[in-house]
Amino acid sequence: MTFQLNPFLKKSIQSVADVGQMLFRKGWAEKNAGNLSWDVTDTVKVKTNQLKTSAFHKNSHLPKEMAGRCFLVTGTGTRYRDIEKDPAGCLCILRPSEKGNGYHLLWGGQRPGFGPTSELSSHLRMQSSLLKRGGKLKVVLHTHPNELIVLTHLPETNNQEALNWALWGMIPEAKLFVPKGVGLVPYRLTGSDELAGATVEVLEKGYKVVLWEKHGALAVGADPDEAFDLLDAMNKSATMYLLCKQTGRNPQGLTREQVEEIARTYPEKS
Ligand SMILES: [Zn+2]
Repeated sequence: MTFQLNPFLKKSIQSVADVGQMLFRKGWAEKNAGNLSWDVTDTVKVKTNQLKTSAFHKNSHLPKEMAGRCFLVTGTGTRYRDIEKDPAGCLCILRPSEKGNGYHLLWGGQRPGFGPTSELSSHLRMQSSLLKRGGKLKVVLHTHPNELIVLTHLPETNNQEALNWALWGMIPEAKLFVPKGVGLVPYRLTGSDELAGATVEVLEKGYKVVLWEKHGALAVGADPDEAFDLLDAMNKSATMYLLCKQTGRNPQGLTREQVEEIARTYPEKS
């Protein structure tokens, strides 16, 4: 018995494809940059005989607590922009085994040499931290938003406090949509355990947006659109900041009192 996509999964795959298109059009997804994971455990029922007929791949680096859960993830080397035309070649649904020695490929991966994102182990560590936060946040989205990255190259905004006040000061929505601000992770080697570990630490403090110095950003949300919106709002602020700087002058920005008034008037719901 082969694995069949239910209507929720079909819709989920379409929304990953839609967000992939937006990321590419924004210029945040050059070549195969970026990756995404979505915890779809709640909607996937896997029968024992389906596991027997699905391919098993060894991987001893997956966090043990994610065993038996199901994830929709992007493939390694695949492009965000290609998901729309070839979802089954660019994405897969996988289930880490109970024994902790690998995962079953339930759906997708229909491309020669396909593998899930090379960041699978990091994604599952982040997914594990989201589960500890109550399980409402199911998507981890990584991409390269230009203007946010630029701010980590400027000494004046390359520290978390200055960065967040600069971002909150540019448009009221920045404080409204991302009240806790951006968690800044100092530069670590791409794909390293150190980068994953530092990111998990920031997520465990309750941040929904993480900025990797001189690399890119990561956002978490209930679905890909929610994660995208957070990055979109913060990158808009970063763009406003840089547009002001391009005039040769420093932005005036909202005052701290004005930003705090927004926080007081519209407290975070979740
Ligand atoms: Zn990246």
